[in-house]
Amino acid sequence: MLGDPAVGKTSLVHKYVNDMFDDSYLSTIGAKPVKKTIERGEDVIILIIWDIAGHNYNLHPAYYLGAKGALLVCDLTRISTVDSLQSWILALQSKAGDVPIRVLANKADLENRAFELDHLEDLGFVSMMTSAKTGENVEKAFDELAELIVNGSG
Ligand code: GDP
Ligand code: MG
Repeated sequence: MLGDPAVGKTSLVHKYVNDMFDDSYLSTIGAKPVKKTIERGEDVIILIIWDIAGHNYNLHPAYYLGAKGALLVCDLTRISTVDSLQSWILALQSKAGDVPIRVLANKADLENRAFELDHLEDLGFVSMMTSAKTGENVEKAFDELAELIVNGSG
């Protein structure tokens, strides 16, 4: 999980793994990897999800090293969270290589949008809208990334 503070990284993980949403701001302390098992017929995918606490992309290399893919999260109500996406991606790629990436435009439940999905697509990002609050696309986002990681390509 990468992206600027307060875009909803921790909330998305919490919704996906525990099916819960909490409106209070729970500042993320350190990085606690959480595990989620996806069953697809006879196959089992074990996702280890790393949340981060950093304020910018200049994280300790250990956060990026060995990553097999990333969800880049921005906040639909704050355009500055889009402007920083490229820096997050460059930092990731310099440590983890060319791994699959999906961009999530989070907080789709809020009215005061600063941009729409076409803006991300114009910038060349494969993206989808999510809401950790309503659950919109949350499972889809993680499942699609898992699929990309397992089946290769990005
Ligand atoms: P992080 O710093 O990226 O991990 O962001 P958090 O998950 O801590 O979320 C920051 C704030 O945004 C919290 O108050 C969350 O409740 C809120 N938030 C996160 N996702 C959503 C969402 O999809 N919709 C709304 N309305 N609020 C959200
Ligand atoms: Mg967090």
